[in-house]
Amino acid sequence: MKLLPLFMAGILVLSGCAGAPPREPAERGAPPASRPSIGPAPTQPGITPRPGAAVAPPSETTGARFIRVLLSGGTQEVVLEGETIRAWGVDGRLAAEAAGRVTVAAVGERIRWNGARLLGDTLDVAGAPELRVGNRKGIGRVRLLARKGELLAIAVVPLEAYVAAVLSQEAPPRFHPEALAAMAVAVRTYAVAAAAKPRDPAYDVVGSVEDQVFDGMDGVPAVFREAADRTRGLVLRYRGELARTVYHSTCGGRTEDAESAWGKDIPYLRAQFCNDCADSPAYRWEYRMSEAEGRRVAKALGVPPGKDLRIAVAGRTPTGRASRVRISSGGVSRELQAAEFRKAAGYAKVRSLKMEVVPVAGGWRFTGEGWGHGVGLCQFGANGMARRGAGFREILARYYPGTEISGERP
Ligand SMILES: [Zn+2]
Repeated sequence: MKLLPLFMAGILVLSGCAGAPPREPAERGAPPASRPSIGPAPTQPGITPRPGAAVAPPSETTGARFIRVLLSGGTQEVVLEGETIRAWGVDGRLAAEAAGRVTVAAVGERIRWNGARLLGDTLDVAGAPELRVGNRKGIGRVRLLARKGELLAIAVVPLEAYVAAVLSQEAPPRFHPEALAAMAVAVRTYAVAAAAKPRDPAYDVVGSVEDQVFDGMDGVPAVFREAADRTRGLVLRYRGELARTVYHSTCGGRTEDAESAWGKDIPYLRAQFCNDCADSPAYRWEYRMSEAEGRRVAKALGVPPGKDLRIAVAGRTPTGRASRVRISSGGVSRELQAAEFRKAAGYAKVRSLKMEVVPVAGGWRFTGEGWGHGVGLCQFGANGMARRGAGFREILARYYPGTEISGERP
C-alpha cells in the first residue's frame, strides 16, 4: 500500500510534467507574478473547527496556518467517503450527517445532500477517521461551495502537512535530505505567496500541475514529513517580498532566465550554471516524433500538414533554449513560441526547450538536455549539490541568488 506511492513518486519525477510531477509552475499556465490578484488576502481560510470534535482530524491545532487547495471544480457533483461524515453550514450549525458515502451536488447556488436535502451554498465537511473526496484520500476537512451549478471542493490543509504532501508528489524519496529540505522551503514559499494573492476568493492554490500537485495526506512517507519539519515555517524572500520559488526537474547544465522563459526579469531567477544534475536520467534525452505525430501537432497549431511539413527551431534564448519554432507546409508558415510547441507536442516527449530537431526518415528526431522549463531550482542539481555536502541553505542560495531565508511571518 505504501510502496506504490513511493514507487510512483520515483516514476513521476522521471516522467516530467503535464499531469506528472515534477510540475512546472510556468507550464501550468500563467508566468510568475502574472496571477491576478483577486480580493483581499486572507491569512486564514476563515474556517474554524466546528463542534463535533470526534470528527475533526487530530492534526489540526488552533493557530495553525491553513492552505485552501482546490481539489475539484468544473463538475456538478462530488462523492465523499468516510465512516462518519458531518457537514456544518456557515452559521456553524450541524447541517447534515452521514455514514459511508455521500454524493453532494450543486443545484444553482445550493448544495443537494445525497440526492435529497437542499442545503445552503456553503458546507464545511469533516470525516472520521478520515475523509475521502473523489479519489483523494486523507483529506482532513473540505469546504464545499455551490457556484452557478458548479460544485467546488476545497481542502483546508495545515500548511506543514500541505508542504509534506506536495513534496511527496514533487520529489523522489531517495533524494538527499538536504535536497528535500531545500524543496520543502520552495514548496512552502510558493504556497504562502499564493495564499497572499489567492487565485480565487474561495481558494489559494489548485491541487494539480497548475500549481503544485496535492493528492491528499494519506501515506506521505516520513522523509517528506521530516523535510517539512526540519524547515518548519521557513520561506524565501527577496527584499522582504516572498520569492517566486519555481522549480523544475533537470536544467541540463544551465538554468534559464525568467525573462527568457516568461518575458519578465526576476532578479533571483536568472540563469545559473549547474553541473550537478548530470546523473539525472533526463540530463540528455532523445525523442523520435513520428510523421503522424508531427502532423497532429502541426494541425493543432494551425498549420494544415502536407507532404512537405517542416519543423525547425527559429530562435534561441541566451542559454541556448529554443524560444521560437517555425512550422511550415504547403506555403503556410507559422512561427510560434517554443513553449507553445512543447505543450502541443507533450511535455513528457519534448522534455525541455534545450533541444535540436532534425528531420529523419519517418519523422523527426529531437535531442535535448534537461527536463522542464529550467527556471529556478534544478531538483536533480539540488540533489547533486547535497550529495557533495551542501546544506539546504546553500542549495537555495545558488538557485535563488539574493534571496534570504526567513520565518513565514517577517
Ligand atoms: Zn541542473
